[in-house]
Amino acid sequence: MNNLLEVRNLKKYFPIKGGFFRRTLGHLKAVDDVSFSIPEGHTFGLVGESGCGKSTLGRAILRLHEPTGGEIRLAGTDISRLDAKQLVAQRRQMQIIFQDPYASLSPRRTVMQTLLEPLEIHGIGNAVSRKAKVLELLDIVGMRPNVLHRYPHEFSGGQRQRIGIARALTLDPKFIVADEAVSALDVSVQSQVLNLIARLQRELGISFLFISHDLAVVQHISHEIGVMYLGKLVEVASSTDLYREPRHPYTRALLSAIPVPDPDNRTQRMILQGDVPSPLNPPSGCPFRTRCPEAMELCAQAMPALKNIKNEGTAHQVACHLY
Ligand code: SF4
Repeated sequence: MNNLLEVRNLKKYFPIKGGFFRRTLGHLKAVDDVSFSIPEGHTFGLVGESGCGKSTLGRAILRLHEPTGGEIRLAGTDISRLDAKQLVAQRRQMQIIFQDPYASLSPRRTVMQTLLEPLEIHGIGNAVSRKAKVLELLDIVGMRPNVLHRYPHEFSGGQRQRIGIARALTLDPKFIVADEAVSALDVSVQSQVLNLIARLQRELGISFLFISHDLAVVQHISHEIGVMYLGKLVEVASSTDLYREPRHPYTRALLSAIPVPDPDNRTQRMILQGDVPSPLNPPSGCPFRTRCPEAMELCAQAMPALKNIKNEGTAHQVACHLY
């Protein structure tokens, strides 16, 4: 299967300014040397605690944050090198769904105006074909045409997220970043929106980068999963392998925190000690070593590289000195 997205050694550093002359005193490495790929029509789940850099990574891939280094190839085009004009044309192929649909929809625009806007900006079709497209989009996300002239405040959170998804689909994108797209919704509504995203991915062949702090949510929807900690990917595997055989101690701790509804299948809960260290002053060696129950002397001295630990079958990569 061809890769739609290929990310190689992507970095996003934010300068830390200080002093009277606002000099650059150092850099916050929000995304540090991250590489992964997403095949056509696949969903790559990206998980980690808040502040691990996953949203910055999603935005850097779309160039909503300008990357500090690395390469981003979408359908073969290196979008990290495009100038502003070329990027506008490329943006049709890549969209984002935000966490808070209320904040991402203009309160003064009706559903019709919200969905027409991208078509008008890109000069696609005429008045008749645009209206037909808007009706088609509403149908895809399971909404009726009678909502066209209503405003965002007239909808529930789940309905607003459907409108946000419809807007992301307006330009027939190949790739969508869903950034905590269901985190603000009630659990019952979450599953409806997750099912909608899974259906879109299946029926329209869109590739998704699905970002969430919740491993249980990511499992539901992803083909492959990457686990992020302090700006780095620490484990990448197929969804099945990751849940059946998690290797990195951080992944094991995240998984052990997911409640299991079966009383006969209780797993030992691993409580992570301490907080995530500040990315301004990360630990030497392995970034997870200050909280890792299996840390060794070597872990403070050398950063473990992300490497493949399977010779056959599906790829399973882990960054840990235990392997
Ligand atoms: Fe723990 Fe060491 Fe592995 Fe890091 S490299 S996860 S500190 S065992």
